[in-house]
Amino acid sequence: MIIVMKMGAREEHIEEVIQRVEEFGYKSHVIRGTQRTVIGAVGDERGKARLQSIESMAGVESVVPILQPFKLASQEVKPSKTVIKVGDLEIGGKAVVVMAGPCSVESETQMLETAQAVKAAGATVLRGGAFKPRTSPYTFQGLAEEGLKLLDLARAATGLKIVTEVVNPADVELVADYADIVQIGARNAQNFALLKRVGEIRKPVLLKRGMATTLKEFLMAAEYILSEGNYEVMMCERGIRTFETSTRFTLDLNAVPVLNKLTHLPVVVDPSHGTGHWEYVGPMAKAAIACGADALLIEVHPRPEEAQSDGVQSLKLEKFRLLMEELRPLAAAVGRRI
Ligand code: PEP
Ligand code: MN
Repeated sequence: MIIVMKMGAREEHIEEVIQRVEEFGYKSHVIRGTQRTVIGAVGDERGKARLQSIESMAGVESVVPILQPFKLASQEVKPSKTVIKVGDLEIGGKAVVVMAGPCSVESETQMLETAQAVKAAGATVLRGGAFKPRTSPYTFQGLAEEGLKLLDLARAATGLKIVTEVVNPADVELVADYADIVQIGARNAQNFALLKRVGEIRKPVLLKRGMATTLKEFLMAAEYILSEGNYEVMMCERGIRTFETSTRFTLDLNAVPVLNKLTHLPVVVDPSHGTGHWEYVGPMAKAAIACGADALLIEVHPRPEEAQSDGVQSLKLEKFRLLMEELRPLAAAVGRRI
């Protein structure tokens, strides 16, 4: 249920409503809009009729059901786009944010070289995995905390924000200590224990769509994080499995307008994993901006042929710079900027 407060409702009335919601055994999530405050009451669907009585409380305009199964992620509860602030950076605002960097953090030179180049090209977030969810246990698994330290070093040298993945619930605190944005990878999109754990931290989360996850399931995954009280979630389309084999995955750009219709959360597109080949990254990055993405996640490596992972889909530094130049007029054409 959503409890819509009257315009200019007094703080004490909001507090009374929260208290009543909790007395009824529901969790309350207060969403303060520019016009009015709404309170999401989330919990057991069966007893929700009781919440209707809140309509007669002081300061309350109406009590309406949330029809979608994803409650806090839905536009029903919050029609305006969520803008996630990462320091001075805004994700979900007018600017299209570009997050770029290697698949894996490998060495100090690799990270510093990449960070400086992507920053000069206009990226504002540096990506790089220190904990890697690899398909084979015999391939490079990441540098773990040593990798997080290298990300920290690159941040100190450039001022870029850091996005990096966590794969194990036990490492969430450690990763959140270093990261500005914590990434949940496609392979963990429905790892509910991990989702709940990142719901407890107070750092933005970049949630990747599972390769066989419907958009409804993807939104329910986000709901796990939101329902624990972490409202700063961005939804990343990174390609799904289809019968097509010319590309590594099929980048489902339909997801962008659909998510923009269903949720208020910012939408990110990852054309690197979505295609699996560096030549296709540029065209799909452009398409992603054209159809309404709020941010891009792009793999970049100074020497892709030496990369420990995903070299085939990584752009060289100069190719990334050229792509950024091409993206700028495109963003302007759809009323955005980079
Ligand atoms: C990654 O970002 O390097 C990654 C492992 O992505 P995904 O989870 O989308 O496969
Ligand atoms: Mn990768």
